Amino acid sequence: MAEQFDVVIIGGGPAGYGAALYGASAGLRIALIEKAKVGGTCLHVGCVPAKELLETASVRRAIESAAQFGLTTSEPTLDFGVTQTRKQSVIDMLHGGLSGMLKRRKVTVFDGIGTLGADHLVKVSGGSSGDVELTGTHIVLASGSVPRTIPGFEVDGTRVVTSDEVLSLQTLPASAVVIGGGAIGCEFASMMSDLGTEVTILEGLPKILPGCDEDITKIVLKSFKDRGIEVRTGVTVNGHAPTADGTVVQFGDGESIEVETVVVSVGRRPLSENLDLAGTAVTISDRGHVEVDAHCRTAEPGVYAIGDLIATPALAHIGFAEGILIIKDILGEDPDPIDYGKVPWCIYCHPEVSFVGHTEASAKEAGFDVIVSKHRYSGNGRALILGEPEGMVKIIAEKRPDGTGGRLLGVHMVGPWVTEQLGQAYLAVNWEANADEVAQFIQPHPTLSELFGESVLALTGRSLH
Ligand SMILES: Cc1cc2nc3c(=O)[nH]c(=O)nc-3n(C[C@H](O)[C@H](O)[C@H](O)COP(=O)(O)OP(=O)(O)OC[C@H]3O[C@@H](n4cnc5c(N)ncnc54)[C@H](O)[C@@H]3O)c2cc1C
Repeated sequence: MAEQFDVVIIGGGPAGYGAALYGASAGLRIALIEKAKVGGTCLHVGCVPAKELLETASVRRAIESAAQFGLTTSEPTLDFGVTQTRKQSVIDMLHGGLSGMLKRRKVTVFDGIGTLGADHLVKVSGGSSGDVELTGTHIVLASGSVPRTIPGFEVDGTRVVTSDEVLSLQTLPASAVVIGGGAIGCEFASMMSDLGTEVTILEGLPKILPGCDEDITKIVLKSFKDRGIEVRTGVTVNGHAPTADGTVVQFGDGESIEVETVVVSVGRRPLSENLDLAGTAVTISDRGHVEVDAHCRTAEPGVYAIGDLIATPALAHIGFAEGILIIKDILGEDPDPIDYGKVPWCIYCHPEVSFVGHTEASAKEAGFDVIVSKHRYSGNGRALILGEPEGMVKIIAEKRPDGTGGRLLGVHMVGPWVTEQLGQAYLAVNWEANADEVAQFIQPHPTLSELFGESVLALTGRSLH
């Protein structure tokens, strides 16, 4: 006899465990099935370890700039083994906290691979929970994603790695090619370069960081160039030939480069094949995503899909938001669908990037008459105090007939700690606030966030500094 739950969730990453915690806090009886460790990609081989290693790079930059503050230090040397131990201890603490929270909320966690058959029957097998059958009034598919690979670049864990392996390297290579200049590729390139690796990014598209505003990308590119990161765009990789100490990567029109390690960072693909959905009406797109409506409902009644498994932005916080959305839907609360065009994006390379809403180009393409306000951190007191004057805030607003800024359409930031400064811009854009409304709010002084305040104020036709 299958054990019955209100909600059975397959996959314990941010989307799945988010839905489990939120659903349990609303009093639902929840089963969560995870084949590896709760926390998923994000906690174990994604957001958390990547940001932890980037923090090591940041500490090194701080030490290297100590002399300008009058502090004498010796040349920093890197023991990447210690870095890895610290990274793992942060992961372990978060994993312990998450496991404890699931227990306290009385979520029943099953260890094994979950598959879904007809009539909401879920089978669990292959893990320490043994062979178990469950049914749920509602089922949530949240099996996430895995790194995409490229033919001809078979992953061996040393010469050719993906994000899964690079985050656990015990030593950093002397030289590396990063294939793919998206957010994750740029974070790896930035981290490795700051820690001493000679890095080349090979990107097939005409520019790195697709989706970012042009002005923002230019500042990242300049910083990368100044720090010795070579960026080649519009080039395709053709293959590689291993050597004694590394491999020769062939790309473009007969060009090649010899490096110790190739980091393949060409995106992620949804992991739908292990859910065994044949007995259900759930449909899967050509790219492997489970197809859903605006409330993340699949074609099978009572079955939802969320997170990287569906074709929405592959971000942990989108997984959380979708987890909350479907629980509200299950509770009959008629939630508003997520507006995916206005979600927050953060990239943690150096310099950091964050944005929400339209770029200048996409706002114009959408037919808006826009007014743009740009201010640089070089004029911001806190940025100069930190010794990080590189970067800008750029705001795109609808232009009013009198030439001032109306509704804020997009905010783009590059520079020190901008991932921590996006919050108020995110609220303003999503509340469809006008420039003069936002400009009334006071920014504390001296802070980096004053630059957002100055940029909004300038849209009113008057300014301070
Ligand atoms: C290097 C890197 C850096 C990143 N940085 C950021 C960042 O800074 N910010 C951000 O928002 N996002 C970031 N991401 C993306 C983020 O990690 C993902 O968007 C997020 O983890 C997706 O959550 P998910 O729950 O949908 O899937 P996942 O996190 O992939 O979790 C899915 C879980 O389901 C389990 N599973 C799969 N199939 C089954 C099955 N049949 N039965 C049982 N269990 C199963 C898996 O073991 C896994 O634990 C990063 C990703 C990478 C790779």
